[in-house]
Amino acid sequence: MLEPSLWLASAQRLCVLTGAGVSAESGIPTFRGPGGLWRQYKPEELATPQAFRRDPNLVWEWYDWRRQLIAKAEPNPAHRALVELEKRAPKFTLITQNVDGLHRRAGSRNIIHVHGDIWLVRCTVCGRQDQNEIVPLPEIPPHCSGCGGLLRPGVVWFGESLPAQEWEAATRAARQCDLFLVIGTSAAVMPAGGLAMDARSAGARVIEINAEETGLSRYVDVSLRGPAGELLPALLKEGIPNSDRLL
Ligand code: NAD
Ligand code: ZN
Repeated sequence: MLEPSLWLASAQRLCVLTGAGVSAESGIPTFRGPGGLWRQYKPEELATPQAFRRDPNLVWEWYDWRRQLIAKAEPNPAHRALVELEKRAPKFTLITQNVDGLHRRAGSRNIIHVHGDIWLVRCTVCGRQDQNEIVPLPEIPPHCSGCGGLLRPGVVWFGESLPAQEWEAATRAARQCDLFLVIGTSAAVMPAGGLAMDARSAGARVIEINAEETGLSRYVDVSLRGPAGELLPALLKEGIPNSDRLL
C-alpha cells in the first residue's frame, strides 16, 4: 500500500479543504485556468462588493448564468469519494470554498462552507436570508419578498470577511486534525488558502491533490498531480494509478 493511502486509512481526525477544481469534472468552470472566463470579464472583477454597487444587474446576470450551469451539473467521483471517506474516518470535517452545493448533493454531511452558498440570497436592506433555487431567476436583479430591497447572492466576495462561525470551526478542525487533504484549490484565496499550512504547523500530515503545481505543493508531505475525480477514488482503493504522479 502506498504511503498516502496508508495515512488515509489510519487517520483519526481527517480534515479536507476543497476548491473549484473538485467541481471542474462536473463541468463547472474554475476561476483560474482555462475555460474560467465569462464574457470579457474576470470573475475576480465581478465577485466584489464594488462591482455589485456599480452594476448589480451585471453581477446578477453572471450569478444567474453560474446557477444555471450548476443546476445542470452532477456530483463527480471526487465528491463521492469524499462521502465514502466521511463514513470511514472516526472524525471528518469537510471545509469547502465551493459555493455550488455539490458536496451536499453528493451526500457529505459535516461540511463547512467558508465562502457561502450560491443557492442563498440575502437582502441588502433588511438582511433577510432565504434559500432560492429558481433557475433562471424570473427577475434580474431580484428583490426581497419582505421589504422590496435589492437581494445579493449569499456568497463571500473578494474583499469581504468570512462568516465568523464557519471560519472558527474551519481553523479549529485544521489545527486539530492528524491528516489534512487539500484538493482542487489554487490556495491563492486567503485566508482559506492558509488552512493547509495551519494544519501542517499544528503537526498534521498534508496531502495535496491538484491538476497542476500550486504555491502549496512544495510545502506539503505529498503532492499528487492529476484530476481529483481519478486520484481520490484511487487513494481510497489503496493505490495510485500512475506512480509518476507521486511527487
Ligand atoms: P481556483 O479557480 O483558484 O483554482 C482551481 C484549482 O483547481 C487550480 O489549482 C487547478 O489546478 C485545480 N484543478 C482544476 N481542475 C482540477 C481537477 N479536475 N482536479 C484537481 N484539481 C483541479 O479555485 P479556488 O482555489 O477554489 O478559489 C477560487 C474561489 O472561487 C473560491 O473562493 C471559490 O469560492 C470560488 N469558486 C467556486 C466555484 C464552485 O463553487 N464550483 C467555482 C469557481 C470559483
Ligand atoms: Zn428585505
